[in-house]
Amino acid sequence: MTRNLSSIKRIVVKVGTNLLSDRSGIDSQRIEQVVEDIVTLRSQGFQVLLVSSGAIGLGAKELGRTSAVKQVALRQACASIGQPILMSHYRAAFKRHDVVCSQVLITRSELNERKTFVNLRNSVQTLLDLGVVPVFNENDAVSTAEIGTAFGDNDRMSAFVASKIDADLLVILTDIDGLYTKNPRKEHDAVLLGEVEKIDDTVLSYAGTAGSVFSVGGMKTKLLAAKIASTAGCATIIASGYEKSVLSRLLAGEPLGTYIHADKRLGQRARWIINSSPKGTIRIDEGAVRALRAHKSLLPSGVVSVEGVFHEGDVVMVNEIAKAVPYYNSTEIMEMAGCQSKDIPRRLGKGKADVLFRPEDIVFLDHAE
Ligand code: GLU
Repeated sequence: MTRNLSSIKRIVVKVGTNLLSDRSGIDSQRIEQVVEDIVTLRSQGFQVLLVSSGAIGLGAKELGRTSAVKQVALRQACASIGQPILMSHYRAAFKRHDVVCSQVLITRSELNERKTFVNLRNSVQTLLDLGVVPVFNENDAVSTAEIGTAFGDNDRMSAFVASKIDADLLVILTDIDGLYTKNPRKEHDAVLLGEVEKIDDTVLSYAGTAGSVFSVGGMKTKLLAAKIASTAGCATIIASGYEKSVLSRLLAGEPLGTYIHADKRLGQRARWIINSSPKGTIRIDEGAVRALRAHKSLLPSGVVSVEGVFHEGDVVMVNEIAKAVPYYNSTEIMEMAGCQSKDIPRRLGKGKADVLFRPEDIVFLDHAE
């Protein structure tokens, strides 16, 4: 396998906080370098979207804080202070090249909801048609992990963005050269991997635990991001943002960083299902698992139990093997668990679906067809 860069048109570039900041605050020289590199790619005909972190760090510095901000509400306040500062730097840098940039702040719930997602997709498409570089960040002031609206890190957010807008390549720029077999800052025999075919448990183990961070989100979230991107048929490159003109060099074929191959491109609805946070779990028996694997619908007779509270049309887990979108809410499914389909009208009223969901409403985590 080699890097497949021949049919790339749309690129999402993610830059992390570490890369953009120095001791005094924002490293405006780095911003200028990233922007210049993006401008070069655009002049070569690529469409580029940027995902930039840095709002919380800049906000904290604006408030004169020197230590890490941990409390959620304070992080949100810092993001709200820092985001306009971040954008003013980008605006100034892009303006020098006569390029217009825009700010797009998103939370996970917007991508999870079909309507807001379609709106977002349309507005991003319009921005790209206008020749604008959209600069994304998480809308930290309104998203919190507690209520499930947060991505948690911009690595995964950048992959969701790449997936939603059908990007061909995601480039995650960080403060390390790529994925090593071990932590290169501790182990001398760590080897840099130039290419990864598929992200499996062995590859994930190279990144260590989430705690062994090399940069903001750590290597693990970068690999999870690459996995999300791969389901959208989008390859990922993790590379060092300290390399001069790294983006142009990567696209010219220089083997910098780690290239993670794309998987089969799932359809948008399947991607939406697989990338949404599940609201609950439907536990089913082995017979039902076999039926689902054989492209059959889920019948109430196969349901063993229901966990969590969800509405019809929400994404839920099916055991630990799949995600699905049922036609019924959690209370209704509990009510009909173990019943025959013919009993549904008697239990829940006439005119209701006689199955919980159909084959097109389920995606297996192993992506088996
Ligand atoms: N949204 C956060 C910020 O702008 C960054 C999250 C991350 O770096 O992963 O500061």
